Amino acid sequence: MSLRNPYDHSHRLILTINGGSSSLKCSLFRIGPPLTRVVSCMVERIGLSEETLTFTDLARGTSERRTIQAAHHKDCVEPLMVWLEQKVTMTDLVAIGHRVVHGGPRYSEPQRLTSEVMAELRRLSPYDPEHLPAEIELIETLGRRCPTVPQVACFDTAFHRAMPRVARLLPIPRRYDEAGVRRYGFHGLSYAYLMEELTRIAAHEANGLVILAHLGNGASMAAVQRGECIDTSMGFTPTAGLPMSTRSGDLDPGLLSYLSRTEGMTVEQFHTMVNRQSGLLGLSETSSDLRDLLANEANDPRAAEAVALFCYQAKKWVGSFAAALGGLDTLVFSAGIGENSAVIRSRICAGLEFLDISLDESRNTAGAAIISSEASRVTVRVIHTDEESQIARAVLQLQAEGQHANPSVS
Ligand code: ADP
Repeated sequence: MSLRNPYDHSHRLILTINGGSSSLKCSLFRIGPPLTRVVSCMVERIGLSEETLTFTDLARGTSERRTIQAAHHKDCVEPLMVWLEQKVTMTDLVAIGHRVVHGGPRYSEPQRLTSEVMAELRRLSPYDPEHLPAEIELIETLGRRCPTVPQVACFDTAFHRAMPRVARLLPIPRRYDEAGVRRYGFHGLSYAYLMEELTRIAAHEANGLVILAHLGNGASMAAVQRGECIDTSMGFTPTAGLPMSTRSGDLDPGLLSYLSRTEGMTVEQFHTMVNRQSGLLGLSETSSDLRDLLANEANDPRAAEAVALFCYQAKKWVGSFAAALGGLDTLVFSAGIGENSAVIRSRICAGLEFLDISLDESRNTAGAAIISSEASRVTVRVIHTDEESQIARAVLQLQAEGQHANPSVS
């Protein structure tokens, strides 16, 4: 898609909504030039009681925090809109852009949320019951709150749409592929942003062989060959791939039937276990937050094992993607863990000298933009990701292409 002068409405605003499993991040962007984030909001611990809503007014340099009642993501809409109405002229709001986790087989490009698209999202709900139903409720609630403002869905699966068929196929009976049961990949908004940043700062690297490592509460990697994603660690759902804060990542498929036979575990219980009780939390039995585990690893072998497993699996994925790419020029670390934890970056890269990866530990500890050593043939970078900016850009592109969105759905 090409940008066709999307910046011609200088006082207009775009609201972006990025819902995680128990968090909601929103930003308000003023349409530029340049496109500028003026407000960011975050609700944490949704459904866990004592939900906190943090507003940061970037234009004024102020921040506020308050406790709200939000059993579900949709419950955040009213307090959010009330606060926004006090701060900005909401009649300037021209569109709301959503991160939508799954576009299924049909959608990869951003879509205005018409009733037809909503019907397809409802149909896709079973693909990702952890995220999609809450996202649909958010869209519907915002549609009722702002009925004249168009809403746009930006899909986390989109970045991976060109993956070769061999990387998309699941080795199960073929009829499932025909029904859309295949590998999709996620974190696509983050990956698209990272590739745009890489193109901006080192275009020759973006045209080479790249592994992007998005390591946050959700964690995945993508293998990118001359700008095209050729494989990714997540699959049909975001539960696959690397072990994560509470998700298991890849498991032996025999586990469900074993636990069902021996413990009478139901499908629902298995779903909860692999999405909410596994990964770092499950192994450590104490915390899903890597900072806590790093702080405790010297005293608690469970914490040490959880961290070790995370780094070991991440290293294996780097190796496997280097093989899929047929080499490697650039490794990019991003998201909460990838951007902030020098020790985890160091442990993942340790022993990868045979791939020509070696870190400069002083640069790594300093959190420099390039953390590889002079001798390393592979450039190892840390790039801050920004999914909300990517959503706002996508909404602008859609508008610039003249697809004027319909009024919101309700
Ligand atoms: P989300 O996927 O929810 O957007 P983030 O990208 O914010 O998550 O990443 C959250 C993760 O980042 C948490 O596990 C947290 O422990 C980790 N993290 C943040 N800062 C650090 C740090 N300095 N050291 C280690 N881990 C960190």
